[in-house]
Amino acid sequence: MFIRSKLFEKHHIQGLFSTRHGGTSPPPFEHLNLGLNLGDSSDHIQENLRRLCQASNIPLPHRSIQTHGIETMICQGEGIQHQHDADILITSTANTSVAVRTADCLPILLIDIHKHIAAAVHAGWRGTAKNIVQIGIQKMQALGAKPEHILASLGPCIGSCCFEVDVKAAQQLADSHPQAHQHLHQQKQKSYPDLQAINQCQLLRSGIKKQHIEMVRQCTYCQSRDFFSWRRDQEKSGRMLAIIQCPTSCPLTLS
Ligand SMILES: [Zn+2]
Repeated sequence: MFIRSKLFEKHHIQGLFSTRHGGTSPPPFEHLNLGLNLGDSSDHIQENLRRLCQASNIPLPHRSIQTHGIETMICQGEGIQHQHDADILITSTANTSVAVRTADCLPILLIDIHKHIAAAVHAGWRGTAKNIVQIGIQKMQALGAKPEHILASLGPCIGSCCFEVDVKAAQQLADSHPQAHQHLHQQKQKSYPDLQAINQCQLLRSGIKKQHIEMVRQCTYCQSRDFFSWRRDQEKSGRMLAIIQCPTSCPLTLS
């Protein structure tokens, strides 16, 4: 039903990436669709979310309307579906969780484990070109977080094996970081970006330590049994959620 972040688990933090298993949605959204307004009924989506939260023991997360922009939403209290545009959701409230929806885009979960400031970031190629993860870290710093105390988990997304972009998108991604071009693989005059690797560069530039960055190396496009993929299934694709919960008690120190 979901993949837990091993890095977060080590530090007693709850962070997960849902798969398409364990839900109630019928084809083509089988089974754990968590995306609204796709043609799947809201009853299925609600039940899927309830099952995911129950199975993972994570409170209902805050969700936004994602636009591939760089807006931030600070969340507290009980998790709801907000009607605001935001691709960065942050919380510093104990027991509160935040989430982003994806189907190929890269979900990034962040937490300052000393200050208990958590964030979920929606980083598709557009967000990555806009350095969205760096913007998220800056917002966390404004709330008191320190980069050296931040853990980052980069979830399943479309891999460079399957993700072809046009020349314009490739240029924007290359411009996002001095080393980004190294992670734009070229084949027959086509570019295939590695979104996780480019975001890792951006995280390192923000001062996040390499050993505090985890990458779940699974391609949503290749692994059709496990993941939804917009590129593969277009309007027949469901959505997954990446969720992080702000913990209640003070965890262990970083290693
Ligand atoms: Zn692939």
